[in-house]
Amino acid sequence: MRVTMIGSGYVGLVSGACFADFGHVVTCVDTDASKIDALNRGEIPIFEPGLDDLVAKNVREGRLSFTTELAGPVASADAVFIAVGTPTRRGDGHADLSYVYQAARDVVAKIDGFTVIVTKSTVPVGTGDEVERIMRETRPDADFAVVSNPEFLREGAAIGDFKRPDRIVIGTEDERARGVMEELYRPLYLNAAPLLFTQRRTSEVIKYAANAYLAMKITFINEMADLCEAVGANVQEVARGIGLDNRIGGKFLHAGPGFGGSCFPKDTLALMKTAQDLGSPLRIVETVVAVNDQRKRAMARKVIAACGGSVRGKRIAVLGLAFKPNTDDMREAPSLSIIAVLQDAGADVVAYDPESMEPAKALLSGVSFAADAYSCIEGADALVIVTEWDAFRALDLDRVKTGLRTPIVVDLRNIYRSDDMRRRGFEYSNVGNA
Ligand code: NAD
Repeated sequence: MRVTMIGSGYVGLVSGACFADFGHVVTCVDTDASKIDALNRGEIPIFEPGLDDLVAKNVREGRLSFTTELAGPVASADAVFIAVGTPTRRGDGHADLSYVYQAARDVVAKIDGFTVIVTKSTVPVGTGDEVERIMRETRPDADFAVVSNPEFLREGAAIGDFKRPDRIVIGTEDERARGVMEELYRPLYLNAAPLLFTQRRTSEVIKYAANAYLAMKITFINEMADLCEAVGANVQEVARGIGLDNRIGGKFLHAGPGFGGSCFPKDTLALMKTAQDLGSPLRIVETVVAVNDQRKRAMARKVIAACGGSVRGKRIAVLGLAFKPNTDDMREAPSLSIIAVLQDAGADVVAYDPESMEPAKALLSGVSFAADAYSCIEGADALVIVTEWDAFRALDLDRVKTGLRTPIVVDLRNIYRSDDMRRRGFEYSNVGNA
């Protein structure tokens, strides 16, 4: 099959490379010429484990190419995926759908013969109807079907998630489109990844419901962590104690500094707004958004408390900037809020992250960036662990202790054991007495 991806970011590039790896012929299109130039030079503009090899292999074997010109690839495509961004719209918290609608207009002008238009971007319920309306209005003679096929991959594990998904959700009631989608996903289907066909609107709701549920689970354990701190209980054991119950499950029960990233914050907010506008408010989601917003700043206050109530003039070492390990994505990363509060309180912040320092430099001012974890820690009055990169899990603690001016460690990801850290002479605090 011939596939065209509109948008070559985290989702478009990974999905495009994986579809090519299944044997389809894929063209990834992007309006950002610098991104396409880089890809054509063999450079991967994002950090995602395994993506460089997968892209190189499929380019070499002639199944994957990159361009800024959508006309040819769209005209020859069986399926065109819209995988452009849907960020939070400035001012009101709704999803900004302007990139999706623009892509729909651009695409419909160029399709030739029956083409399946697949919305892979995360879009509010009813967007598929609007995309279809725009396309029919722009070109009444065009032959197409608009399908919803939300993406559930996680950054940092994106290739494995795409190739071995828990399920594939496809929202369409068009028989011809169903046939194309089945053919596209046949390699996965044979591996028994369930293909769930639903109405288009249902498919759109599934994506937001999934993200809101996961965000709720994180927020739930984060509040439990606060309770554990107040009563002297251990949140990690609480998480294990409840997670072993199959009805609950142990995933997404790691207490920490609040969820960030390019999806949960914007998607919970957009779902909350959509539901309010439709007169069917989701009170749990509203609370999740509010609790998580406050949490990031509360984590900075935890650091200030660990430093004896003031960080003015103190040097604070921050390990980890990306919103989670194995990605360079800084969108809505907790580190951004935590560092801002520490700076407001007069701290001098030095930071290190294995992959996200370049994107972080554009977002953080007044921060010094260290070359590695130990030079970050050197001479600092306190160490704060914000992202649980593997490289931070087994630091040489003797070196950390001699490097720090005062042995204060605030571990916001619970990657060290408190009894061990205290035995080694650290003034150690974490999230929920883990
Ligand atoms: P991204 O910002 O990394 O990539 C989007 C790309 O689209 C950019 O490169 C941009 O230049 C390009 N673009 C914008 N308008 C275009 C147009 N008209 N034609 C061609 N290219 C255009 O975004 P992302 O993280 O890949 O997310 C894309 C969508 O997928 C969003 O709706 C997001 O919510 C959803 N999603 C993301 C993830 C994730 O982990 N990142 C997971 C699941 C779903």
